Amino acid sequence: MAFPTVREIMSAPQAHGACEVRGWVKTHRQSKKVSFVELSDGTTVRGLQLVIDPALSSYAACVAQVVTGAAIIARGEVIDSPAKGQRFEMKVTELHVVGEADPETYPLQKKEHTHEFLREILHFRPRSATFGAVFRVRSAAGFAVHRFFQERGFYYVHTPIISTSDCEGAGEMFHVTTLDLANVPKVNGQPDYSQDFFKEMAGLTVSGQLEAETFATALSKVYTFGPTFRAENSNTTRHLSEFWMIEPEVAFADLESNMALGEEFIKYLIRYLLDNCPEEMEFLHRTNAAEGQTLEGLRALVDSKFEALDYTDAIKILESSGEHFEFPVRWGIDLQSEHERFLTDKHIKGPVYVVNYPKEIKAFYMRVNPDGKTVRAMDMLVPRLGEIIGGSQREERYEVLLERIRELGLPEQNYWWYLDLRKFGTVPHAGFGLGFERFLMYVTGTSNIRDVTPFPRHPGFAKF
Ligand code: ATP
Ligand code: MN
Repeated sequence: MAFPTVREIMSAPQAHGACEVRGWVKTHRQSKKVSFVELSDGTTVRGLQLVIDPALSSYAACVAQVVTGAAIIARGEVIDSPAKGQRFEMKVTELHVVGEADPETYPLQKKEHTHEFLREILHFRPRSATFGAVFRVRSAAGFAVHRFFQERGFYYVHTPIISTSDCEGAGEMFHVTTLDLANVPKVNGQPDYSQDFFKEMAGLTVSGQLEAETFATALSKVYTFGPTFRAENSNTTRHLSEFWMIEPEVAFADLESNMALGEEFIKYLIRYLLDNCPEEMEFLHRTNAAEGQTLEGLRALVDSKFEALDYTDAIKILESSGEHFEFPVRWGIDLQSEHERFLTDKHIKGPVYVVNYPKEIKAFYMRVNPDGKTVRAMDMLVPRLGEIIGGSQREERYEVLLERIRELGLPEQNYWWYLDLRKFGTVPHAGFGLGFERFLMYVTGTSNIRDVTPFPRHPGFAKF
């Protein structure tokens, strides 16, 4: 006997015929003549309808246990369904309860639950239709990321999760230590890291970029795809303490080719998901998507050309917009969410790259422009969310990079190997970081980043 998934059954051109299915009960409607069980195995939005004759002895023996949440195995024949709205159903000849569920205490009842409530039961959340769909899309997107780069000759690099270099120099690292926290050895009032596990201060990586640059200047085209961690206290709907980032890095590349790569990448991922997860995408956009987000909008985006705005022009547009912003606009400010959203939602009405930011608000490694005031930075902003990609052409000139490190008072000795890349065979190169969860929010229309993340971590929360 074959054991197809519900997905295989429902997407087949013809009724599957005799088989066995395994999964969890979503609903159970009993009547005298015929009983209906909706069975879900987590592979599709809609479960398989089991049609059961109450006289069936294996059903009669377990009918009281066939309740929402119980795990069951059913045997029978998948036939064309006479009912409206579904192609196939199973006429059951044998039913077994594998794992019971107490209907009084099972937290995931049939009624609609709020996203907030479901975040309190992360261990059952994937069983809901919405989150099943979100996480199947997440799985497909992860695969598409690799496919995109592998098809284009990029090599996948595993950059370290434990790191002693704080990429941005912003000091937002989680510490990794085996020192006894109740009794930390100290020198001059500071923790004595020479007695710690790595004999120096170590933390969880905030970005794999600097390490990826070493590989780009060896293998030419590389990418990372892994978890990153930021101990920033930003309790927003767009920030997590642990998130996944995709960071391509390309040698012999400039800002323009980097922007083109980012645009091609985003479009590829969206197209891949529209083609490969049509059921999930349709369902999520019908039931879950934020206002204004539609499948048609996503399809149009794939065929559009992304606009680019110079930071200086973006500031002028904001200044003359007539909008009232909470954070006043002037040249030199970092764009706030409200500014980004004005540009994407109202001005451009689509994704936009903002390029050439003031150097004061960007990281030390970005290439300084001839004006001496701005750097070759690019942020991709999308409607509703703001930034999903942050990238730049990197500073490849040794002297200029060293001066930036000194200007910012960064610990020069920590960057000796990064500076070495500029001393030996330096080349123009560029890359970016795409926040995987930000992308998933965008493509599924989800409003809160915690709802595209299996086990979200944020300030005050690391449960499950
Ligand atoms: P933001 O201004 O939104 O905090 P950032 O400037 O700190 O972003 P980068 O350091 O450029 O972001 O990181 C690259 C990408 O990683 C961002 O474009 C975003 O998609 C994602 N990202 C950054 N911080 C977070 C976070 N805390 N949680 C989830 N994704 C994040
Ligand atoms: Mn940030």
